[in-house]
Amino acid sequence: MATKSKRGSIRIDRELCKGCYLCESVCPLGLISVSDTLNQKGYYPVHYSEEDIPIEGHQCKACALCAIVCPDIVIEVYRG
Ligand code: SF4
Ligand code: SF4
Repeated sequence: MATKSKRGSIRIDRELCKGCYLCESVCPLGLISVSDTLNQKGYYPVHYSEEDIPIEGHQCKACALCAIVCPDIVIEVYRG
């Protein structure tokens, strides 16, 4: 039986990110990683990895866990 899978994507405002890495720790698919360049506030912001290295079966499901856990409302989730 085919299962219905949700597809999604996220957008991270790297200049608002304070580098707490809560979002990185909650993504069940490991799609969020730490950038190697500082933002204007002096933090290493997170980065949405799927944009660079799409991995089979590791596609954002729009579960929104990352956006919910972010204390600074830095992440937007898009469905579809
Ligand atoms: S919405 Fe869910 S699957 Fe997509 S990046 Fe955030 S935590 Fe990961
Ligand atoms: S939870 Fe928010 S502030 Fe913390 S690292 Fe993720 S995007 Fe940045």
